[in-house]
Amino acid sequence: MGDMLKGRTALVTGSTSGIGLAIATSLAEEGARIALHGLPKQEEIDAALAQIGATGAEARFFDGDLRDPDKVEALVAAVADWGPVDILVNNAGMQKTVTIAEADRAVWDAVIGLNLSACFHAMRLVLPGMKARGFGRVINIASVHGIVASQAKAPYVASKFGLVGLTKVAALEYADAGTRESGGVTVNAICPGWVETPLIEPQIAARAEQHGGDRDAAVRSLLAEKQPSLRTAEPSDIGAAALYLCSRAAHNVTGVSLPIDGGWTSQ
Ligand code: NAD
Repeated sequence: MGDMLKGRTALVTGSTSGIGLAIATSLAEEGARIALHGLPKQEEIDAALAQIGATGAEARFFDGDLRDPDKVEALVAAVADWGPVDILVNNAGMQKTVTIAEADRAVWDAVIGLNLSACFHAMRLVLPGMKARGFGRVINIASVHGIVASQAKAPYVASKFGLVGLTKVAALEYADAGTRESGGVTVNAICPGWVETPLIEPQIAARAEQHGGDRDAAVRSLLAEKQPSLRTAEPSDIGAAALYLCSRAAHNVTGVSLPIDGGWTSQ
């Protein structure tokens, strides 16, 4: 285990699977204490705690449906009782592929509530403490869909564009907190393209139906449409980027929306 983040506490929302678990693991490998969070089955909680435990880092699990602002407040308070939140990774998110005509109020409210409002509430609660301590890192997991649009994703695209905007405002408001030595307070977004996690399985399954049930052909087809590298990212690739943003050397990297998208948004 490295010690770059020794003594730091990181809250990673939605960290019992996919990108969140990979980020939590990367931070744990550098010594951070990890507040795992999600809404999974007990087996997944146990598996995530074991994965973080294997790094030698301390971890605890916290729950809460973050579509409810009261639950966001309760989560942040519970983690803060355990240790001051030095790193907040707003990662929990949901996707729903529907056209604007098909989308109803419930879909809109759920996607905006989780992917955008919950991030805002967590940030407003942790940023003042980060400023007081002179060090803090907020990493918002947005998406290529925070930079460009696709059809049938209006609530998701709106939530992720909102998250990129929120990231920039927070970066400006906290840019002068701390010092080069203390590491400062930075707020950034990571904007992944296709990453192999449970979140994209419904889209792969829908595309596979057009390819005689062939999952690999479905993934190739989705990549060919948007992602010029023709490679999906692994969750650990996103973890490595998050770790860099948490380093002291990244004290002047703030307000950035970092695409990890194989060229998708360069087109
Ligand atoms: P995932 O489904 O593996 O993880 C989602 C996490 O969010 C899980 O831990 C889940 O328990 C949690 N969650 C879901 N609903 C919740 C709720 N109502 N309240 C609290 N927690 C809830 O998916 P992932 O792909 O790892 O997604 C993580 C983030 O990455 C999301 O914000 C997603 O939009 C973003 N993203 C993913 C991709 C991709 O290709 N997988 C691409 C771009 C952005």
